[in-house]
Amino acid sequence: MKKIIVALLGVTLITTSAFAQQSREDSLNREAAKTEIWEPKPTKVEPGKTPSDAPSDAIVLYNGKNLDAWHRLGGGKAGWKIEKDGTLTVVKGSGSIETNQSFGSCQLHIEWRSPAIIKQSGQYRANSGVFFMGKYEIQILDSYTNQTYVNGQAGALYKQHIPLVNATKKPGEWQTYDIIFTAPQFYADGKVQVPGRFTVLHNGVLVQNNVDIKGTIQWIGPSVYEAHPSKLPFYLQDHDLDGGSPVSFRNIWIRPLD
Ligand code: MG
Repeated sequence: MKKIIVALLGVTLITTSAFAQQSREDSLNREAAKTEIWEPKPTKVEPGKTPSDAPSDAIVLYNGKNLDAWHRLGGGKAGWKIEKDGTLTVVKGSGSIETNQSFGSCQLHIEWRSPAIIKQSGQYRANSGVFFMGKYEIQILDSYTNQTYVNGQAGALYKQHIPLVNATKKPGEWQTYDIIFTAPQFYADGKVQVPGRFTVLHNGVLVQNNVDIKGTIQWIGPSVYEAHPSKLPFYLQDHDLDGGSPVSFRNIWIRPLD
């Protein structure tokens, strides 16, 4: 009889302690649930097969076939050359090319290449650039061993922010930019309310980490903001200054972040 009582007591104690533990877990789960957010669910997006490929929700601006998404900056037909393999190359003097569509904040993927045979130096070697909203330039330049002012080398927010590192590949090799651009906001009187920002990965390496934009880029003098609409086209620069050093492009896609 004594044995039975001891055994029953044991079972009761085990049951009670298991129950207490379960109840403690339930209570913790209830507390944790208070900071869980379940809705709305982020849209499901199919990534490209490689990180360079456009994901399912991107707007493809150039895929090697045509320049339908572009025109010449200032008006007219985009005059850059599409090679047999789909590579798009600057034609000196044909002008910069601008998107037909306007964009505000966005994620942009773009691949570019300096010519394998380099002829010039400094700012004359494979100079182009991505001009967000036509005003804020992420510099494209052969900066593999080419010396120039560092706030004007590849990956610079031109004359505003020096890249954190130089991730440039050899001339002739394809390179990627993955750029997150946050458009500036303006008060009704035209003064800047929230400055714009850039995060840039060059060949997958962080070169601009959420830096502030100081204003419209300037070759000479300080940058100052000029109020503009919340969406504008961006352009790729025909900046083959001396000729003989044209930049090529491929695989350009954008994800508006509105
Ligand atoms: Mg440039």
